[in-house]
Amino acid sequence: MKEIVLVAINSRYTHTSLALKYLYANLKELQERAEILEFIINDKTQTVAEKILEKKPKIIGIGVYIWNAIDVHNLIETLKKVSPKTKIVLGGPEVSYQPFRVNFDKADFIIQGEGEISFYELCNDILKNRANPKIIKAKIPNLKEIKLPYSYFNDEDIKHRNIYVEASRGCPFECEFCLSAIDEKVQHFEMDILLDEFELLWQRGARNFKFIDRTFNLNITHANLLMDFFLAKDEPYSLHFEVIPDHFPEALKKRILQFPPASLQLEIGIQTLNNNVLENINRKMNLNKVKKNIDFLENSSNAHLHVDLIVGLPGESLESFAKNLNRLKMMTNSEIQIGILKKLSGTTLNRHDEKFGMIYSDIPPYDILKNDNLSFETIQKMKRFARFWDLIYNSGNFQKTVLSIFEDDVFEGFYEFSEWIYKQSDSTWQISLNRLSEYIFTYLTEYKNFNKTKIADTILADLTKVAERKIPKFLQNHISFTPYIRKKNITKQNKRQLLRE
Ligand code: SF4
Repeated sequence: MKEIVLVAINSRYTHTSLALKYLYANLKELQERAEILEFIINDKTQTVAEKILEKKPKIIGIGVYIWNAIDVHNLIETLKKVSPKTKIVLGGPEVSYQPFRVNFDKADFIIQGEGEISFYELCNDILKNRANPKIIKAKIPNLKEIKLPYSYFNDEDIKHRNIYVEASRGCPFECEFCLSAIDEKVQHFEMDILLDEFELLWQRGARNFKFIDRTFNLNITHANLLMDFFLAKDEPYSLHFEVIPDHFPEALKKRILQFPPASLQLEIGIQTLNNNVLENINRKMNLNKVKKNIDFLENSSNAHLHVDLIVGLPGESLESFAKNLNRLKMMTNSEIQIGILKKLSGTTLNRHDEKFGMIYSDIPPYDILKNDNLSFETIQKMKRFARFWDLIYNSGNFQKTVLSIFEDDVFEGFYEFSEWIYKQSDSTWQISLNRLSEYIFTYLTEYKNFNKTKIADTILADLTKVAERKIPKFLQNHISFTPYIRKKNITKQNKRQLLRE
């Protein structure tokens, strides 16, 4: 039995909720009466409710995000029917700003903002029957005073899940689509204490650290200290940082160069390379520096890059997006994430609604349906483009083959392919690797008239980069075996046997 149950509904098993661990860490004397329960969005609502109510809680705290808002709505409907007296407290970005587009009326309390102090105070009041308003604006905690949550990662988290960590909160920039633009100030955690905590995690076996700081390379002194901490380690690890693209001073570059392959991942928000659109959304970016820095990261460092662009920004036409993609692809061969603009409550994006005819869905993730530049049909096409781009380009499964799809113009080439494949598959989901390979083969050889053996060999070379993959049946009559033989160091004599594998 636990009086306070903190509930996370994560989007996948490898994720774990750092926010709830913060709340738990800061519950003071109430902590021994509390427990964290984590689920994933595919779990059945009634099973989740059953597991929570087994604890006979008086208070249930739930974190609400764009990916679980509907699940939380369904969960609290069930919880309140079965146990009407249990107090439900919601927190998280999805309930921190109005309007709420998902109905959370059944919640008893909603804490808006960073909840470490306010959740503790509210639990105390509830347990002592003291009244509180339904919506509570959280007191912004001083990060140097709150308890850190890292000792509450359990052994399963350390073995199998991403370890989310943070060295700062907030962002000084004001990009209009982003909730971090609302943060009043940037706060940093006490570096000595933080590094001690990271050392304890390291000693317990954590090797996969994902920093959730919005702008890791903002404070270079802190960034350097954190990088030095990991550079001093002599076992493999994986680090993930979100960085702004135009701020890489020499001291930071020097450290980045020291990271071995596969140890450093940098997520770089680009969003658009069109100066007018950048101005529309109040995003400050020095495009010359962006180009130089990406060039440095791409060509001199071992960092794995993940850059992103957004479709549907106010004032951005399809032609402008096409130029962005083509320019970015010239700068990098790394993953390019193509996102669709979302309107989050709390952001100032709505000031463009009238001027650019911006129409968004009211259902999470609140993505754009159309605007004056992009029709509903075009946005639908671009959603599929983004999905196929992920499957084919970002997956890295078709590194060589995709060049034949691009031909002379990355956007044009891939757009045409995306339209074609969707006509065949009528879906963007549940397409196996073999089926995808066959679609690509058919497109390039029958629709674009490339040489069959050349394309078959290229697909084979791409697929067999992963040792255990078999040769797909449809390729067997077309391959020349040259790339396979070169790669596997086998003789032509046993190729028949390989085909029978
Ligand atoms: S998009 Fe990035 S730089 Fe812009 S406000 Fe958000 S976190 Fe800051």
